[in-house]
Amino acid sequence: MVLSFLSIMHYTIKLSQMRIGVDLDGVVADFTDGWTSQYEKDFGKKISENDITEWGLAKPLTHFEEEVDFWNWAKDIDGASIFRNLKTYNNAIEVLVDLSLKGHEIVIISSKPWWSIHDTLMWLGENKIPSKEIHFTEDKWKVSCDVYIDDAPHQLESFVENVPEKLILRFVRQYNRFVEGTVDLKSWEELSPLLENYNL
Ligand SMILES: [Mg+2]
Repeated sequence: MVLSFLSIMHYTIKLSQMRIGVDLDGVVADFTDGWTSQYEKDFGKKISENDITEWGLAKPLTHFEEEVDFWNWAKDIDGASIFRNLKTYNNAIEVLVDLSLKGHEIVIISSKPWWSIHDTLMWLGENKIPSKEIHFTEDKWKVSCDVYIDDAPHQLESFVENVPEKLILRFVRQYNRFVEGTVDLKSWEELSPLLENYNL
């Protein structure tokens, strides 16, 4: 009797645990603030978040002809990459810690370039991101999770195409648009109530 009660308890707890796949830039790390501040310092032009209405960092947003020119600048800012010192978005860490304490697994899935990996690992440590699992990959959907949170239009489309049965959350930013098959997430404060409503 006691044993079967415990089994049911275990099953219930197990069901409520989720693997939450979390992107970094534009979701946890404020990449926009990081690069626009540095850009103003280096090139004297202020770009506000509201100016960034499309995906992409070359002309006409910046003076860089091609995306690769942006990244050649961003990979070496006084000996470290632009990813080294990014701020975190309001409440991002608090919400991740809370979800982690509730037993959910926070799985970091980032497609950052290879040259940023060491900076990113240090950044994850310094910011005490509560994750035991970190992936660097373009094929994010291959990392099995129950929920994915991302801001990149092509990644959101890729999740919808490859794993449409999962809960795919678009972190709403000026530079992305609604993608059919995803659910909008406007702030970190919305995440826990949203997950509870979905009852995964
Ligand atoms: Mg991103």
